[in-house]
Amino acid sequence: MIPARDGDATIARSAMPDTPVLLASASFRYCPRCGQGPSAPPEAPVFSCAACGFHYHFNPAVAAGVIAEDREGRVLLVRRAKEPARGRLGVPGGFVDIGETAEASARREAREETGIDVLDLRFLGSWPNLYEWRGVVYPVVDLYFTGRVGEGEVASARHEVEEVVWLRPEEVDSADLAFPTTRSAFERYLEVRETGARRGDRPEAQGLDATSPAR
Ligand SMILES: [Zn+2]
Repeated sequence: MIPARDGDATIARSAMPDTPVLLASASFRYCPRCGQGPSAPPEAPVFSCAACGFHYHFNPAVAAGVIAEDREGRVLLVRRAKEPARGRLGVPGGFVDIGETAEASARREAREETGIDVLDLRFLGSWPNLYEWRGVVYPVVDLYFTGRVGEGEVASARHEVEEVVWLRPEEVDSADLAFPTTRSAFERYLEVRETGARRGDRPEAQGLDATSPAR
């Protein structure tokens, strides 16, 4: 994976050394509406066609993940079966579909990846990320939630998951977590467990802060 905060760079560093990957915005060489060029790659964050006036804003995609605990206080983790970050630990999550809420997306991904129904989702925080897929880097904003594993739920590794791993929070080695945002979210989760303070309770330390989430 690549650094999480280089969203404006045209070329980002690939997970493979010496293999540069293009930001999605740099892959737009011709106007998708009229087929005319700009002769140079568009400057992030907007594609603008001089021939027909078509504008396209390269906004981040949205992903949602959930840190879910069972009744014994163990966290539901998944070992990733595919790149990026194959073999590393993550939490259930993925891209939000069009028309779907982030909460519904996180619950759907948990069901698809582990068979587990996650309840009582509460917003934990959001972090910018870069996601590399087939040589193209997509800016993403990752929304993380906490949640509770429903009673009697039995987990099994499913879609794109090598295995389901249950760990107590203190057993999770941050270095094993797949993405920088997963590590940030897990740190926030540990803070919340200890102090009860969530995002919105205090100023965000870095980046442009959005308005506080509804509690
Ligand atoms: Zn055009």
